[in-house]
Amino acid sequence: MTPLKINDFVRELYATNDFIPLHAPTFQGNEKAYVTQTIDSTFVSSVGKFVDEFETKMEEFTGSAKAVATVNGTAALHAALYMAGVRAGDLVITQALTFVATCNAVHHMGAEAVFVDVSPKSLGLCPKALDEFLQEHAIQTEQGCIHKQTKQRFQAVVPMHTFGHPVELDELMQVCSKWNITIVEDAAESLGSYYKGVHTGTFGEFGAVSFNGNKIITTGGGGIVLCKSAEAGAHTKHITTTAKVPHPFEFYHDEAGFNYRMPNLNAALGCAQLEKLEMFIGQKRALAKLYQSFFEKSDLTFVTEPEYAKSNYWLNAIICPDKESRDFVLQETNAAGVMTRPIWQLMHRLPMFKDALCGNLHNSEFIESRLINLPSSPLEIQSL
Ligand SMILES: *Cc1c(COP(=O)(O)O)cnc(C)c1O
Repeated sequence: MTPLKINDFVRELYATNDFIPLHAPTFQGNEKAYVTQTIDSTFVSSVGKFVDEFETKMEEFTGSAKAVATVNGTAALHAALYMAGVRAGDLVITQALTFVATCNAVHHMGAEAVFVDVSPKSLGLCPKALDEFLQEHAIQTEQGCIHKQTKQRFQAVVPMHTFGHPVELDELMQVCSKWNITIVEDAAESLGSYYKGVHTGTFGEFGAVSFNGNKIITTGGGGIVLCKSAEAGAHTKHITTTAKVPHPFEFYHDEAGFNYRMPNLNAALGCAQLEKLEMFIGQKRALAKLYQSFFEKSDLTFVTEPEYAKSNYWLNAIICPDKESRDFVLQETNAAGVMTRPIWQLMHRLPMFKDALCGNLHNSEFIESRLINLPSSPLEIQSL
């Protein structure tokens, strides 16, 4: 397969000779109307009806007991880790193949990220690799699961549903319950993705979703914490809103809180975007099908959803035979105005995480050197 053919195919899909971005948001519904309403009402900031409405609608959509809207996905992860009991000095296991936000949130907690391999099936945290890593490095004690030598607690495991493809959750939950470690899902990329019919982000004690401009729906910037119980949800809301104890005029805060609340202005955009979410998912799954059949007879492997999952196909991806062919495709597509992108460099290669404890990262390294993301903006139904 030559890059030229990819360029032609993508240009035909999007029916344009202009630059084709990786993922652009679309605003064709009530976005303007709702945002204007917030301005007219003056409630643009931390109080307003759209925040409550957005949280309720997200609960309905995901089946989460309580959803707490935040300023961005990283803040949602930070708050989720705090709620999961992660504290300074703890170890938090995640995948080396992720976006840096996952590890930044761990770092901001004063904890240390530990990197384990991904599964080729999901591109997310591999349950088998996790179990093997823990067998080598961890022991169970009355204080929980701790590192054999340093005695640091393994307080949380953070799987990330890469490009919207759900990780092997049954197996992962089994390993985590065996080792007595809490799961916090980084579901930033997987709004509208289901594991065996259940929405991602609702399996762990907490899940974090992002509404950044390039995600499947956007609030400009924003995120949400999905909580497993109403009680944990109420506490999450409390700590993300300065931990102020409700009172008509007194200011009293009963713990060190965050100011992570999503502004009403952003929630208004989110409410309008949510009305289009089912349509976006349909469009993105249809687009993925077209890519899949295009790459079927080529030497490039299109990444498909695992058999147990329904993915939102947030970003479409192919795996090249080797790094040289990957670099060639990246070069020729970008030069022609068709935006493609390599996957993130592995986290332990970044200067701030270079000393992190790592397991065997064989699959992560393989994927890192070969994967390319393709233009994935939702396509208009009528052009399909
Ligand atoms: C987008 C993203 C986040 C959070 O991003 P924000 O830009 O802070 O909303 C976290 N993790 C992953 C894997 C992401 O892709």
